[in-house]
Amino acid sequence: MSAVHSEAISVPTAVVISIGEELLEGRIADTNAGTFARELLLKGLHVSKMYTIGDGVGELQTLLTELADHVDVILTTGGLGPTADDRTRDDVAASLGVPVIPVPVEGAIEHLVEVYSKYHDHPATEAFLAQASMPAGAEPLRNFVGSAWGFMVNLGTRTRLYCLPGPPVECLSSYRDGGASADLEERFGMASSLAHGVLHTAGAPESVVEEHLRELIVDGGNPRLGITANADKVSISVLARSEEPARPAEHLLETTLQDLQQRLGSLWWGRDAQTMAGIAVESLQEAGQTVAVAESCTGGRLAAAITGVAGASKVFSHGWVTYSDQAKQQQLGVPEVLFEQHGAVSVEVAAAMAQGARRVSGCDWALAITGIAGPGGGTEEKPVGTVCLAICGPHTDYSICRHQFARAGRDAIQRQSVRDALDMLRRGMNGLAPLA
Ligand code: AMP
Ligand code: MG
Repeated sequence: MSAVHSEAISVPTAVVISIGEELLEGRIADTNAGTFARELLLKGLHVSKMYTIGDGVGELQTLLTELADHVDVILTTGGLGPTADDRTRDDVAASLGVPVIPVPVEGAIEHLVEVYSKYHDHPATEAFLAQASMPAGAEPLRNFVGSAWGFMVNLGTRTRLYCLPGPPVECLSSYRDGGASADLEERFGMASSLAHGVLHTAGAPESVVEEHLRELIVDGGNPRLGITANADKVSISVLARSEEPARPAEHLLETTLQDLQQRLGSLWWGRDAQTMAGIAVESLQEAGQTVAVAESCTGGRLAAAITGVAGASKVFSHGWVTYSDQAKQQQLGVPEVLFEQHGAVSVEVAAAMAQGARRVSGCDWALAITGIAGPGGGTEEKPVGTVCLAICGPHTDYSICRHQFARAGRDAIQRQSVRDALDMLRRGMNGLAPLA
């Protein structure tokens, strides 16, 4: 045992700091912290704390003094813009006891002058040009989609500090393309003893997914499993930690994911950044097949999900939003008698919509959705959240009635319905059990 312990790898730790009064006032949601928590985790760093601080003089400096040399990485976002409340550069320079200097990159200032002149008829202000400056001794991080440069610098003997702009696309640019990610990789990537992966499921609620995995979810266990659920999917996150060099974290992660896939059977559909719509487009491309959709209560969200995937034009040709009974009859040939006998929200109408969409479009597959998204319009027999879905394809033709989780509201009912339609396609294409 002692040999194992002496060889044990320690996990580098990181802290994420979000800077901006607008965050503390709740005017915008802090999405950067989550973005970088994931990015750092992927690099094998353990994010031990997240802070949100305002723009006040010295606030960041005080926090940096507290954290310096207690963690391996500090990553900040915000406070690098052109306004007087953007103080990240000054605070870091003060912490280091160095001046703020222009970034030592040829053409950086000239570029800002040019950008400024496009929108103003007077010379660029000092505050605007300050966006191309940083504490002396730091390394600049280029921002390809905005004007504020980021920078990285050592703080004390242990801590590596990365300061990125606030706007989400800009901080990602200076992180991924500007050099922060590569710098982190070089310093911590090889020593990484953490590996993280996520498995996505559909077709069963969180409680059912958990039942399949209960014995694996152990407090403080390795790997550490966590379940999250929203209207689009139920996901299982796996954080594997290497406890000895001979058992790399990646290996533990992969064997765990395989175990999970086996336990979950047809419920799991993808991993990590994959989406159901992405998987649908990819599978259709591989099969050389096409899909059409006919929607009522989702108002085009299914078509939007599919066309949100690059390459959708190869597999998607028609989408109808047939909101009224008349539109369903005119566009898709749904027989009038079905509305009289079963109502617009019925498995019969859903099936006729899918069949009509397939016939008119000539696609291999057609999906249809008709339901009650609420908050009004529900009846005792068909309460809000009642959604009928249908699929019509080469070897499959069925429709189902789902009772979506109505209390989550209209938006969630629509999203759950899009998820279910895509799940029906996935199951149909892969010969899996139909969605019940
Ligand atoms: P900055 O000028 O660098 O402080 O960035 C300002 C803008 O970036 C804000 O007005 C927000 O729109 C955005 N922003 C800053 N911090 C965050 C954050 N943590 N999450 C999402 N957006 C942010
Ligand atoms: Mg700000």
